[in-house]
Amino acid sequence: MDIKTEQFVQVAEEELKNERTRLFLSLLPPAVSQRRQAAMSTFSDPKAAMSYCASVRGAAVDNLPDLLEEFEKNATANGAKVIWARDAAEANEFVVQKAREKGVSYVTKGKSMVTEELGLNPVLEQNGIEAFETDLGEYIAQQLKRPPFHIVGPAINVPPEEIRDLFMDIGILEKATADPVELGLAARIYLRDKFHHLKMGITGINMAIADTGSIINVENEGNIRFTKAAPQTQISIMSIEKVIPSIKDAMFQVRLLCRSCTGQKISSYVTIDNGPKKNDEIDGPEELYIVIVDNGRSAKYHDLLAREALRCFRCGACLNICPVYTTVGGYPYGWAYSGPMGQVLNPMLLGQERTQDLYRASTLCGACKEVCPTGVNHPKIFRYYRSKDVDGDTEFGGKPRPLMESIIYKFWLQGVTNSWSWKLGARLARPLLNNAIKNGWLRKKIKPLDNWLQARDLPLFPKKTFRDRWKDLRDRS
Ligand code: SF4
Repeated sequence: MDIKTEQFVQVAEEELKNERTRLFLSLLPPAVSQRRQAAMSTFSDPKAAMSYCASVRGAAVDNLPDLLEEFEKNATANGAKVIWARDAAEANEFVVQKAREKGVSYVTKGKSMVTEELGLNPVLEQNGIEAFETDLGEYIAQQLKRPPFHIVGPAINVPPEEIRDLFMDIGILEKATADPVELGLAARIYLRDKFHHLKMGITGINMAIADTGSIINVENEGNIRFTKAAPQTQISIMSIEKVIPSIKDAMFQVRLLCRSCTGQKISSYVTIDNGPKKNDEIDGPEELYIVIVDNGRSAKYHDLLAREALRCFRCGACLNICPVYTTVGGYPYGWAYSGPMGQVLNPMLLGQERTQDLYRASTLCGACKEVCPTGVNHPKIFRYYRSKDVDGDTEFGGKPRPLMESIIYKFWLQGVTNSWSWKLGARLARPLLNNAIKNGWLRKKIKPLDNWLQARDLPLFPKKTFRDRWKDLRDRS
């Protein structure tokens, strides 16, 4: 999947005109949010549950180096082989190499955001290895060559008629029908067959438990279980922040994850693997490889505020509540992670230059922070990324602000921090600004303003300020 985060504004504009997307977004995210709220209310104290979960995530992120080492030691003792990958290229190369070694012509995959992040599928295809996504939504998105629309439902916005045409085109549906049950059955029959002859399966990991070396997958379709149980070789891939200290923490996290994700108290399948199949066991892979991917995270780990983004366990609750996501949907974000989750993670992983429009596309309303069970303070992180832009701080790959913008912001800062300069500045600036608005100078010269004004009107300033009018009124009375 190509990364298209730079096209955020352009794709958002297209999506704003898409009636179907608009209708869909007006219905589904509020319904999922309501389910989440109902599920959360089954905790005796939902706020305390969220704050405990946030503290567990915070502590895990703060202790990542130690937890990862402990996990490696215990997973290895369980018989798994732990592979460290610095970046996407190293992780993908390992998978391709292993597939070649095993004489594999195709693999099945369980839904995994980290493999989306790594761009694993195209790399497998380039190397002649077919990858079959086995989560229904992920399979549809893969066939349509689109990024996930939503983290929980990657193709949830695609109408059944479009899926019918797609399935007819790729030959997995014999009789044309838009009945969702029939469509699901067609995909199931087709994909189920892939498990029968499977040599290698690839999955993500929801949580890796340091003190037992176990890995956990949470799902509703059961396809991840098939992908793990059917082949001889299993490769499970995780990013470094998926490690947590203990099974107790994991089980508590699962309760919050499922409620925040789909409004379920627990999802249909929660699988815990302790290494590959043992001699006396019937199911499971003979070899289990756990690939731990960094992909730019540890380079930003020293940054205490940015690393807060690593707390995220991808529940998607912030998407369903975000006024921006629920207006434009998932495609404009142009990568694996969308909504507020993507707005905090993507700048860290892709650099600020490619992602500026993402963290600027926020009203800073804080709704995302309110629902986040892992305690990510999204608005604070957005403001932090923005401040890096203003300061010309290029550490996260941002580029220095153009000179004219810097001068304007410096004047602005002077003006707003002193009441006398604010009053004087406002008096002098009003006629000048009115002129600049009328002849379009502001839009032409200041690029971010141009973007901002495309969705808004900037009215002219009235001749008298509110203070002047207030004073007049007082003098008259
Ligand atoms: S940022 Fe928080 S609410 Fe959003 S997906 Fe991550 S954990 Fe869930």
